[in-house]
Amino acid sequence: MSKVIYLTKQPSNAPDPAGTDAPFGGGPLLDLRRRPLHDLRISVTDRCNFRCTYCMPREVFGSDYEFMPHASLLSFEEIARVAGIAVGLGVRKIRLTGGEPLLRKHLENLIALLARLRTPEGEPVDLTLTTNGTLLAKKARALKEAGLHRVTVSLDALDDSMFERMSDSNVSVATVLEGIEEAARVGLAPVKVNMVVRKGLNDGQILPMARHFRHSGHILRFIEYMDVGSTNGWNLDEVLTGRQILDLIGSEFPLEPVDAHYRGEVAERWRYADGSGEIGVITSVSQPFCGDCSRARLSPEGRIFLCLFADAGHDLRSLLRGGASDEQLRDRLAAIWHGRNDHYSEQRGHETQRRDKVEMSYIGG
Ligand code: SAM
Ligand code: SF4
Ligand code: SF4
Repeated sequence: MSKVIYLTKQPSNAPDPAGTDAPFGGGPLLDLRRRPLHDLRISVTDRCNFRCTYCMPREVFGSDYEFMPHASLLSFEEIARVAGIAVGLGVRKIRLTGGEPLLRKHLENLIALLARLRTPEGEPVDLTLTTNGTLLAKKARALKEAGLHRVTVSLDALDDSMFERMSDSNVSVATVLEGIEEAARVGLAPVKVNMVVRKGLNDGQILPMARHFRHSGHILRFIEYMDVGSTNGWNLDEVLTGRQILDLIGSEFPLEPVDAHYRGEVAERWRYADGSGEIGVITSVSQPFCGDCSRARLSPEGRIFLCLFADAGHDLRSLLRGGASDEQLRDRLAAIWHGRNDHYSEQRGHETQRRDKVEMSYIGG
């Protein structure tokens, strides 16, 4: 029997979508916890050529899984319109994600549209992309020429057999490494490399990864395994904390802290004391950072999710396709952000883990 995991219900506190939102009055847009809107993550597809066990386990995302039909996805013009409105409301950083974003055909055309956006001060927005790297060597130059600034590449192991176990694919580590090097060569730098750590599985790869990426100019970031979605069978016992990871690396290569670039930056930054590079840890489980969370997420078919662990999204596509003006869209988005109260990671516990949650492969991290 085919299964569809993405959530289609409306949030219980969704305001009336019939154009009754209060007009946005300008000034800083803050949510109920006084957090500004700074980042927009745009998921361009729910499809992927990997089946990472922690994200799209093959038992669930098998050959009978029904991905979204193309007609229900937002077009590039629709995405760019939402993004432009979000920039007017404070967004300064846009990240394209998925599924695997490089599977979306002609993605460089979307990048070109987004690269034209300007903040009210006339500045371009920071434009980045997260990818599993399989198609990156081929596409990096076109992405750069279209106006992409940087990329983050996910890589969970250097050892081929462990990588195969993590990604449930037969893609070689060399393919992803080539993608990383080509991205750096064309100027999508510094490249960030994301490694999800599952205790007892790929934690033996932490030091080899650290050794490999020292002196490379790429920034390796370790992500605590998270209870996103409802399909990966997450268990707290499989979480190696950021602190444990730093202790392990620090025992071989002494580390010193680096200041955050801006309020709400996800990764805690560290550098090797000998000057051989920078690393980061993303500690959503052991040290929640909800207090500074400034990210909204746009799903492939046009729903706004306000938290990685949300159980419902706010539909914008019906407004986009129903002739809404830019002002109506702006007021809708402002009202959605204004009513935001999410802080899942601070509440994490037995009860929260049982909730319905949107899948990571749909919303993109
Ligand atoms: N397919 C692209 C990729 O893998 O880079 C982009 C989408 S993927 C959902 C975005 C990021 O989420 C990746 O770095 C991935 O490793 C991370 N991720 C997925 N599931 C996760 C989980 N359960 N815990 C922590 N990180 C996860
Ligand atoms: Fe695909 Fe990325 Fe999820 Fe892996 S983490 S299954 S590459 S979407
Ligand atoms: Fe933001 Fe939700 Fe993560 Fe907290 S749990 S940091 S609110 S995405």
